[in-house]
Amino acid sequence: MSSKDLFNESKKYLSGGVNSPIRAFKPYPFFTSKGKGSKIWDVDGNSYIDHCLGYGPLILGHSHPSIVKAINEQIAIGTTYGTPTEKEIELAKRVIERVACVEMIRFVNSGTEATMGAIRLARGFTGRDKIIKFDGGYHGSHDAVLVKPDSGGAGKPDSLGIPSDTSKNTLSIPFNNEEKLIETINKYKDEIATIIVEPVMGNIGVLQAKKGFLKFLRDITSENDILLIFDEVITGFRLSYGSASEYFNINPDLVTFGKILGGGFPIGAFGGRKELMKMIAPSGDVYQAGTFNGNPISITGGITTLNELNQTVYKSLNQKGKFLRNRITESINDLSLDLSPVGVASMFQIYFRDGNILNYEDVKKSDLEKFNTYFKILLKNGIFIPPSQFESCFISNAHNDDDIEKTATIIHEALKEVFK
Ligand SMILES: *Cc1c(COP(=O)(O)O)cnc(C)c1O
Repeated sequence: MSSKDLFNESKKYLSGGVNSPIRAFKPYPFFTSKGKGSKIWDVDGNSYIDHCLGYGPLILGHSHPSIVKAINEQIAIGTTYGTPTEKEIELAKRVIERVACVEMIRFVNSGTEATMGAIRLARGFTGRDKIIKFDGGYHGSHDAVLVKPDSGGAGKPDSLGIPSDTSKNTLSIPFNNEEKLIETINKYKDEIATIIVEPVMGNIGVLQAKKGFLKFLRDITSENDILLIFDEVITGFRLSYGSASEYFNINPDLVTFGKILGGGFPIGAFGGRKELMKMIAPSGDVYQAGTFNGNPISITGGITTLNELNQTVYKSLNQKGKFLRNRITESINDLSLDLSPVGVASMFQIYFRDGNILNYEDVKKSDLEKFNTYFKILLKNGIFIPPSQFESCFISNAHNDDDIEKTATIIHEALKEVFK
């Protein structure tokens, strides 16, 4: 069956024809038949250079040989035990060795579970109920974080089915705005348990903190006994060997991981100082549990991935990122377009608007229609990026210079066509 027919069939049995909303791009998503290295194939016989990469996890590309080997070996001796394994210690040690502020860790099954656990821990530790997040910051799909600001900045549900009593404890404020943050902290002072932030906002394109903002977050949280959570579900093991906390030289109290940490298998994790992490059950009274927590498949995917990700790999990945971003900037200049190329390390995106973008409100003013045309032209020409202005594009270590060159050339042609 073709992708089109499969999507019609799928809509009969799966809500919206997909299992996560972003996948349902119009008029219909391609159905994937396989992935290998930097490429993904659809059932219609097309192949694409993949810059979506599963929305972030596949930093080694699809089906990396050492992952295939390690996972096959693990499957042969069991897929889940419900008992601890030595491999869990091994992956914990690798993370702790890389990320200075993590001394102890809990493995869970998704980024959603990771932020849920970290927020509960922050509330348990501080004895406070309220949390602060930033507008457009994505921390998974649980009640405490699927929140948008009402006119006063108090949280209101961002989905049907979320009690307003829950949302009111989540204050959502604009990113990169010190004044607003000071105002909010002064207003709620002793009620705020934590600030959760993506050190690079990767779910509204690729939006970086302005200079000094992350340091400001560290200082103001310390001064007010508020815990700082870095949600590194995207940036963890993406930006550098030691992740965003190393890259920006800021030590948060808690860090959440996911995506890359599972090497292409479902995973999440949260970690921090021992004093905090000892409060998690069974050593403490902050409850957290999961049938598949630390399951040997995801853990094996994680160990194998981190083994491959040495300093040389980051150097090469980040060079490819820089090269591609430079080429995109050149194209935009050559074509005299008023667009903003953005990115860091092996993340990239183009905002379809002029520059000086500080927060979600600014990103929302992008020309979404033109972005959509751009996405479709790329797809038609064999380049797959996430189908939304509000996502990041990625480069994997499987992308070779030819892939990057091809992506750069096709992006140039696509921009020319969009704005002809
Ligand atoms: C993807 C993501 C999550 C949610 O992770 P899931 O594994 O999809 O539940 C949380 N935070 C950030 C920053 C993410 O990018």
